[in-house]
Amino acid sequence: MAIPASLRNDLADVPLLEDAGSLRMRSRDFFWFSPILKETLEDKRAEIVAVPRHKADVMRVAAACAKHRVPLTVRGGGTGNYGQAVPLKGGVVLDMGKLDQVIWQRPGAGRFGAGARMLEIDRALAPAGHELRFHPSTRQHATIGGFVAGGAAGAGSCTWGQISDPGAVLAVEVVTVEEQPRVIELTGRDVLRVMHAYGVNGIITEVEVPLAPSHPWCERIAIFPTLSAAAHFAHTFTECDGIAKKLVTVHDPQVVPYLRRLAPYAESETAQPPAMVIVMVSEPQADACELIVAEHGGKVTFRRNAEDARKVAFLETSGLQPLYEFTWNHTTLHAIRIDPTITYLQLRFPPANNLELVDWVAERFRDEVLLHLEFQRRFGKVTCSSLPLVRYTTPERLDAIMAELDAKGVAVSNPHTYVLDNAGWKRVDAPQAEFKRLADPHGLMNPGKLAHWQTEQMKAIA
Ligand SMILES: Cc1cc2nc3c(=O)[nH]c(=O)nc-3n(C[C@H](O)[C@H](O)[C@H](O)COP(=O)(O)OP(=O)(O)OC[C@H]3O[C@@H](n4cnc5c(N)ncnc54)[C@H](O)[C@@H]3O)c2cc1C
Repeated sequence: MAIPASLRNDLADVPLLEDAGSLRMRSRDFFWFSPILKETLEDKRAEIVAVPRHKADVMRVAAACAKHRVPLTVRGGGTGNYGQAVPLKGGVVLDMGKLDQVIWQRPGAGRFGAGARMLEIDRALAPAGHELRFHPSTRQHATIGGFVAGGAAGAGSCTWGQISDPGAVLAVEVVTVEEQPRVIELTGRDVLRVMHAYGVNGIITEVEVPLAPSHPWCERIAIFPTLSAAAHFAHTFTECDGIAKKLVTVHDPQVVPYLRRLAPYAESETAQPPAMVIVMVSEPQADACELIVAEHGGKVTFRRNAEDARKVAFLETSGLQPLYEFTWNHTTLHAIRIDPTITYLQLRFPPANNLELVDWVAERFRDEVLLHLEFQRRFGKVTCSSLPLVRYTTPERLDAIMAELDAKGVAVSNPHTYVLDNAGWKRVDAPQAEFKRLADPHGLMNPGKLAHWQTEQMKAIA
């Protein structure tokens, strides 16, 4: 759609980007992990990128878009995987990167500008001995607002669960997209109205979250003869409440070769390639962790002390990147760089029989679905989720795999759709459409992402 000149006037001195490179780069995320989304989303572009300096600028952009009925798509770090931040109908992309302040921090909680990158938040919290409870493996680039609006879990989830669990987000401040935008504070369970809603129902400007005490997190890699042995270790270790831990990831032996920089730590004495476990554990308890590795028939092949791990994470030194960048969906990134035909799925294993189902998936889809397991503690129980690599053939085959997994009791969230309604177990159960009527009455925010919500205004901009 053409941007009316009057909209530009109304944007006044809000910084804008309009060169082809910026429009392309700020209209993309990592949708290309999916061969299906890649085909659909490659050519979608915003007409203008607005880069607000503060909340007043955000409100000016919101008011102008509402007045001129121009679509508005909010963007954090642009690290989402399903084209959530892609402006399907063009219009304005709102880059939140400058709203990156630590608004306040105190023992137990902190409040941050939505555009603050999670690594920078942790950097600011470190002197007081605090840190975010968990962060995606994209910690370096992902924003806290983008994590609330589009993320789920990550390093830290083995102790603290997921972003949608009760108490994981204390409050969010939201700006509405109306001629006279309002600022709404959502607290308690009301935060779910905008959580994992892909920015379809309000611009999140501030986020308040509980904090954790920061530990000296050291890193370990251990190898095990089989996926099953590695998974049993990971489950038992995650259940050890007395050991402070930040990351417990298991890689199937077939995944390990895709993690090229970790190859030296996967050398085993046997002919069989080993499964690999990556752990971040509080340094004084690393020996306790290693004992459990040995008890499960594993062998530690890599040790990095907490200070060295901290330095690489905070970009103070070069070298092997932080090990969390070989886990969660970074695994797919490493694999696609080696084999561009690889894609992935998102699975959640039920706590009652997760290890049994892991064995079943590995056997049933051998060579086609390659598991890596991200261990989590949620609601007092340990289980694992997975973003398995898939050797892709056709969309029909992908659907058949998902259906079979689902039928067996492995919960599937389909990452090959940008439609929020189809996001499976990642979809937050809250009145998000109802809140959209209030926060985005003209249906301008990220149009096309919430399927079961149509207004005359939406049809008008289609
Ligand atoms: C290599 C790789 C690894 C990943 N690992 C993980 C992982 O471990 N865990 C995980 O949960 N995810 C992971 N992801 C997905 C993604 O990195 C996270 O969800 C991240 O938190 C998204 O943050 P962002 O700032 O990049 O959001 P963006 O991609 O910019 O936006 C995500 C969605 O939120 C909306 N949005 C952004 N900011 C706002 C705002 N202020 N107000 C309203 N809406 C907003 C956007 O419109 C979009 O719909 C990974 C992705 C990649 C590519």
